[in-house]
Amino acid sequence: MLVSATEMLNKARDGHYAVGQFNINNLEWTKAILLTAQELNSPVILGVSEGAGKYMTGFKTVAAMVDSMVNDLGITVPVALHLDHGSYEGAKACIEAGFSSIMFDGSHYPIDENIAKTTELVELAHSKGLSIEAEVGAIGGEEDGVIGNGEVADPDECKRIASLGIDFLAAGIGNIHGKYPANWKGLDFEALDSIHNATDGIPLVLHGGTGIPADMIKKAISLGVSKINVNTECQLSFAAATRGYIEAGKDLEGKGFDPRKLLAPGVEAIKATVREKMELFGSVNKA
Ligand SMILES: [Zn+2]
Repeated sequence: MLVSATEMLNKARDGHYAVGQFNINNLEWTKAILLTAQELNSPVILGVSEGAGKYMTGFKTVAAMVDSMVNDLGITVPVALHLDHGSYEGAKACIEAGFSSIMFDGSHYPIDENIAKTTELVELAHSKGLSIEAEVGAIGGEEDGVIGNGEVADPDECKRIASLGIDFLAAGIGNIHGKYPANWKGLDFEALDSIHNATDGIPLVLHGGTGIPADMIKKAISLGVSKINVNTECQLSFAAATRGYIEAGKDLEGKGFDPRKLLAPGVEAIKATVREKMELFGSVNKA
């Protein structure tokens, strides 16, 4: 059964570790992440962007696949199915489709409009037992065509959004989606500390987890980050392993063209990345 992310993130905050959100793109991605979470006895959040949801043919298909897979694989660790960077309409669609958690990203709206829409969605999500993440201040990089500037969120705005009854908060602290540029200045820990102090202990979310050095991740966790989003890193590992298989000519040997063989190295690579992140985030054996 899918669960909301509230309890697992409150426990993470209290226990000074973070739960990974790993974005899924298809069946192989989902299976690899679920099996690794189970093996490591770690709670896990499966993230679905609106683009990935569309790619997988729709939110209902995604919810049905994940729900059935949790049952068929005998997964017993807590699993949340979470909409990543949801629009107002997308958030409503996922609540209907059977997701257990949503993010409403109203960071591109003026703050008052972000507050009005977040307030409405908090009520709707909670009435159906879902957890809800909201965002203040654009996070850098590009995700599904949304471009941010690596902005740092204003602690006062964070306080206003956090007080709406949301379950966890994404706030820009200089983090960026995708690969980090060579001239990246690093996370802004002063900003993180101010946001943490202004938001009354609400679990904070760090987006753009790919490529942030391990020591910065650990420091961020110590300053209140309880959820870390990983997307690009699994894509890079999958692509590299698949490239290796084909460049070695293995798809031309015997039945090496069978998709179950062709995709296997990529699946193993995703598992290794998820394992590495769960160990770094400290969520192993916290299910
Ligand atoms: Zn994000």
